[in-house]
Amino acid sequence: MKDQLSVGERLATGNPGEDIFAFAAEIYPICRSITGNGVRKTLRAIGMHIDLKIHEVPTGTEVFDWTIPREWNIRDAYIKNERGEKILDFAHSNLHVMSYSLPVRKRISLAELKQHVYTLPDQPDRIPYRTSYYAENWAFCMPHRLFEGLRDETYEVVIDSTLEDGYLTYGEYLHQGESEDEFLLSAHVCHPSLANDNCSGVALLTHLAKRMAGLQTRYTYRFLFAPGTIGAITWLARNEDRCQRIKHGLVVSMVGDGGGPTYKKSRRGHSEIDRAVVHAMHHSGLAPTILEFSPYGYDERQYCSPGFNLPVGLFQRSKFGEIPEYHTSGDNLEFIAPDHLSQSYGLIAETIDIVENNEVYCNTMPKCEPQLGRRGLYGPVGGDKGAAAANMAMLWILNLSDGMHSLLDIAERGNLPFSVIRDTARQLYRSGLLRPVFAANQNR
Ligand code: ZN
Repeated sequence: MKDQLSVGERLATGNPGEDIFAFAAEIYPICRSITGNGVRKTLRAIGMHIDLKIHEVPTGTEVFDWTIPREWNIRDAYIKNERGEKILDFAHSNLHVMSYSLPVRKRISLAELKQHVYTLPDQPDRIPYRTSYYAENWAFCMPHRLFEGLRDETYEVVIDSTLEDGYLTYGEYLHQGESEDEFLLSAHVCHPSLANDNCSGVALLTHLAKRMAGLQTRYTYRFLFAPGTIGAITWLARNEDRCQRIKHGLVVSMVGDGGGPTYKKSRRGHSEIDRAVVHAMHHSGLAPTILEFSPYGYDERQYCSPGFNLPVGLFQRSKFGEIPEYHTSGDNLEFIAPDHLSQSYGLIAETIDIVENNEVYCNTMPKCEPQLGRRGLYGPVGGDKGAAAANMAMLWILNLSDGMHSLLDIAERGNLPFSVIRDTARQLYRSGLLRPVFAANQNR
């Protein structure tokens, strides 16, 4: 029946999970922080797939109430016991050193070492992920089991790091659509070797951007790969004048595990992006958790601060903080899977499809029902599996297309998948029973 695939359908063809997983695995080993060469290396890897523009913002730059910190880099770190044996080695896991640890090289007692160690007593085999960006300190992170076995002796501790004036680095990719109105897709790139949080989100958005290139879209899509919190704040401070173009937005993090899906609404709560994601999730066959906005989480905290109040929600699988793997070495490549990444990608593609196609129409024959059979409109769908849904969709669309209801309004009201409403509306349009009114996103 259809002349062409919709944007969402084009984005969703094939099985993207393997590709997304492979790229997540490629960037997983890199030691990232909120600044430094790990972020640059990650952005360069993304830049192999899309034409990423990389921005460097100098230390000391003021961004609203914040200041770009000094740049942190690390080459090596270890703890050696009295026999010269390395009992902990940064080369084995970059989680072993608290991010932004000051350089240190000295011999210390067990008692002093204990002042500088983080563990997870309730998950004794896992290494915790810890940071100290704005309080100068140093620390090691280790499995609690290792910590408990430490003997009372002198240890050599080495953190070969630098904390110096430098830059904060972020990357941006713009897919130009027909409209200057934008859809923002944002992923944080500041965590070291944590697969779900957020190699998964970075890889998913890279794949999406790559697939989108060459497609004609209604909206312009801005992909932002920036360190959490300070990166989003920096982008907002440097792009304040553009923010009003953002009509929809998603923060994408932790999208490779099998939980959820979870969506946290924007501060506005009922913007088109909120409704589109909720609709896509409810018709996905999964068991979604939909959360109202709260000022805690990822970079939606900045996008939804009252001075911006952008329609940006948070898309995740398991809710952050509610799984034992969260911010531990348990968040590794075994914790994410191509199938889950595919599913997450499909939900985001479906969401994009909804906002791309959320038109408003007018029924050209609003006085009583038009005779559908005479126009062959019941016929073509008669043998389809989805015939009943398509017939119901037709009746809903004809009834609610009064210039006041968008296709998403109709899909919600009729409790039908948006794709069925979209395809049926096209069919009715071709039959002359609908005429377009205006793009549904205008001031909605
Ligand atoms: Zn995190």
